[in-house]
Amino acid sequence: MERSFKKEVQALKLGDGETFRGEGILAVTKALLQSGVSYVGGYQGAPVSHLLDVLVDAQDIIGDLGVHLETCTNEAAAAAMLGASINYPLRGAVTWKSIVGTNVAADALSNLASPGVVGGVMIILGEDYGEGASVIQERSYAYALKSSIWLLDPRPDLPTIVRMVEQGFELSEASHAPVMMELRVRACHVTGEFTAKANRRAAYSGKNRIAGPPRFDYGRLAHPPVIFSQERLKVEQRLPAAQQFIRERKLNEVITGDLAEVGIIALGGLTNGVLRALERLGLADLYGASRIPIYVLNVAYPLVPDELRAFCAGKRAVLVVEEGSPEYVEQAVSTELRRADIQTRVHGKDCLPRAGEYTSEPLINGLAAFLAATRPNGVDADEIGARARRMLAHKPAVVASVGDIPARPPNFCTGCPERPVFSAIKLMQRELGPTHISADIGCHSFATFAPFSLGNSILGYGMSLASAAAVGPNMDRRPIAVMGDGGFWHNGLITGVASNLFNKGDGVLIVMQNGYASATGQQYLPSSAANRSGGPTGMTIEQTLRGLGVKWLRTVRSYSVAKMTNTLKEAMRTAERGLKVIIADGECQLARQRRLRTEEADKLKRGERVVRVRFGVDDEICTGDHSCIRLSGCPSLTVKPNPDPLRSDPVATVIESCVGCGLCGEVAHAAVLCPSFYRAEIIRNPTWWDRMLHRVRQGVIRRLGGAPAEARA
Ligand code: SF4
Ligand code: SF4
Repeated sequence: MERSFKKEVQALKLGDGETFRGEGILAVTKALLQSGVSYVGGYQGAPVSHLLDVLVDAQDIIGDLGVHLETCTNEAAAAAMLGASINYPLRGAVTWKSIVGTNVAADALSNLASPGVVGGVMIILGEDYGEGASVIQERSYAYALKSSIWLLDPRPDLPTIVRMVEQGFELSEASHAPVMMELRVRACHVTGEFTAKANRRAAYSGKNRIAGPPRFDYGRLAHPPVIFSQERLKVEQRLPAAQQFIRERKLNEVITGDLAEVGIIALGGLTNGVLRALERLGLADLYGASRIPIYVLNVAYPLVPDELRAFCAGKRAVLVVEEGSPEYVEQAVSTELRRADIQTRVHGKDCLPRAGEYTSEPLINGLAAFLAATRPNGVDADEIGARARRMLAHKPAVVASVGDIPARPPNFCTGCPERPVFSAIKLMQRELGPTHISADIGCHSFATFAPFSLGNSILGYGMSLASAAAVGPNMDRRPIAVMGDGGFWHNGLITGVASNLFNKGDGVLIVMQNGYASATGQQYLPSSAANRSGGPTGMTIEQTLRGLGVKWLRTVRSYSVAKMTNTLKEAMRTAERGLKVIIADGECQLARQRRLRTEEADKLKRGERVVRVRFGVDDEICTGDHSCIRLSGCPSLTVKPNPDPLRSDPVATVIESCVGCGLCGEVAHAAVLCPSFYRAEIIRNPTWWDRMLHRVRQGVIRRLGGAPAEARA
């Protein structure tokens, strides 16, 4: 069950002059519709998942406009979809999480950028760089640079973001090159408002189809010999056309300031942070007026040399604010100024950190260092430095006073169906010894954290089986690759399963079949119970694997820890060679709970019987050794003081957030731990039969000498 965006979708209907209010990423969606796109697509991933989710929920609106929506199986498919704009005057947009998605899409992107486009192309990248990121810390800039794809990096401000989307399509068409727009997490979730325009129906779309195929044009293929002339086109025609467009449309901005002998060149996406740091140093106000002039690069690539020269002319020094290394923009600025023989000193990584997100602290320190190095007239650089130090002086004392704060890594949801599989792996390893675990991308990667600490490598989404290809033949024990159903369809089916079968591999693959791409917000997959329109998908992982020729295949209910442990042991020990696949079947608990909550609320309203299952631990039996906690890792299974005054060890307890998945009881049973777990049913709107059964039970308990629950309470 995907999260519903029905409410947000209403904002997409706004017409001319109406005020749009909401998040940056939703503003992008509205801007796409205002730009007259013919097709949209992509692959979900933070921080841009919302874009695709909202479009899925807005199918009636985009359908009226004739816009085709494709929920692609991976980013390569999404990038290849942009091929429609190579030959036809069709505007198209796709989205994915970068850097990982751009890596997957890279082949198609190169083949798109070489012939170029006639219809405007926009790639919305969730630039997952910095604090809270969930992927490798690299930036998309390198891709833009190498493929001659223009890179927009708008100032996080809704009117600017919307203008960049609209102008980005025109830039793409004017220069015949694809355009990327990178949005960091702060730009995606910044809130604000802008004056909307009516949605535009494209000249050609599903409502007004193009007649016939195009005239055959070899120049539209990324194929020799035209690739050589295409390389020249990129630098001799498309680049100058793009620079002219950016200059004429004033896509970059200049914030003027009275300290004119110095300046800041900031990537658009970092501008709010720079202004905030300047404000804290007393060099800007809350509304974005700065004393130091700022050249805001809403277009990160390409630079516009004459604009840059005009900004730097007469300045003693500029500071380039650009996260990460290498310092692409700083190098480009230095080169342009050297070529123009402009003597402005270029600062950047000498004042700011070479790695990591530019949050408040590095920016405050970096600006203070820049001012200390340049000492512009009209400002006391020493006082600014002292102010920066005063602002951050409390930090060491704070760190010292709280001591070492334990890390709080993310974890599986309470009741997650993937957790029991790792309990089973631990139990299997107790008997057979440790083995190499190839982990993957998805919720199951949480098993790399305590208490499981399982996983020796992660090579990418759906790549676990492929990444075990050279491990198996060099180890005395079979490796286990763990992959989600999301990863299976994204990449694992071909790079993992087909390759393993083709190469006669002999490992074990566990496919977590929870029904959705869960980590990105529960989007549907080819093997989901239903597709986005509610109909059957007609595809299953089991049939697909059998069709490919997998012989050793077992489907096991995820929560059946004992059965899963035995199946794993069998897979590890069997003399049968070849790939052994275990499909761990259990619906994502988060999706299940969302569905159940609504269903149960409806039942209660109708006065119908609703049963809620909870597990508990008997205080008197629990020995306090906490093996159950180490084997299950459920956040609802915790400890409390021992009620027995003669025992000091805290006992295990199940707290209110328990969803009754039963794992703790299963683990206790499978590991032969202890009999202290019990299962209780909380029945609302009980039937006469429930009441009678309850009375009988109370009577039996009384006869046995116990106190019924009510009496104890
Ligand atoms: S979202 Fe679903 S699959 Fe992911 S951790 Fe939560 S319950 Fe498990
Ligand atoms: S039954 Fe046990 S493992 Fe499942 S949610 Fe409750 S405490 Fe956690």
